[in-house]
Amino acid sequence: MNADPAAQLRLLDLQAIDAQVDKLRHQRANPAEAAEIKELLGKRADVDGRLRDQRIVVDDLSLAQSKADADVEQVKARRTRDRDRMDSGAIGDPKALERMQHELATLERRISTLEDEELEVMEQLEEAQSALGELTSAIEELDGRLGVLTGSRDDRAAAVDREIEQVLSGRGAIIADLPADLLGLYDKLRASKGGVVVSELRLRQCGGCQLALDASELGEIRATAPETVVRHEECQRILVRTAESGL
Ligand SMILES: [Zn+2]
Repeated sequence: MNADPAAQLRLLDLQAIDAQVDKLRHQRANPAEAAEIKELLGKRADVDGRLRDQRIVVDDLSLAQSKADADVEQVKARRTRDRDRMDSGAIGDPKALERMQHELATLERRISTLEDEELEVMEQLEEAQSALGELTSAIEELDGRLGVLTGSRDDRAAAVDREIEQVLSGRGAIIADLPADLLGLYDKLRASKGGVVVSELRLRQCGGCQLALDASELGEIRATAPETVVRHEECQRILVRTAESGL
């Protein structure tokens, strides 16, 4: 393949841009915050699961408390009704009155038992609510930290995007200077090898694989026309000759 020596040199500029963009894209894809964000998201999922369970516990206990309250109120209402009847003097029969007093005593014991149960449920509910509050705070704290981390990650990504755009702005002009077959070879090598595919021959050394070229290789290159695109036999990279090649 032949290409103007100036175009061969331009290939080095193109590669410098592409390498810079690769570096920036790698930076963008691997933000410093990634590990901590992943860890915090794991924690958050765990706390969130516990929070859901705890909400169910609180809801169940709230229902239990309402029922306990209603039970106490129901028995108290009956006690009031019985007392009113006794106080009204409507019950004249002494045996009926005795039965009524006996029932009232039973109701008192029942109220006392129900109030103990009510208190117990209330204590359980308070504990459950306090645990729910702690889990809610933990989620808020995690969300706060995640917000800071994702914010800083996104800010940096946006800055990197601007930098990529800026670096790429010079690419079009270089491509315009390159013949299609040389550009095609460059693209093909980059796709298969990645990284550095064009190396400068500098001080008799390949800038890609860093190997020194021996006398016979140098003699061969010296005898090759400047327009010929030379490949380094060792690494198959495009070898670009410059004034510092040491030929
Ligand atoms: Zn090489």
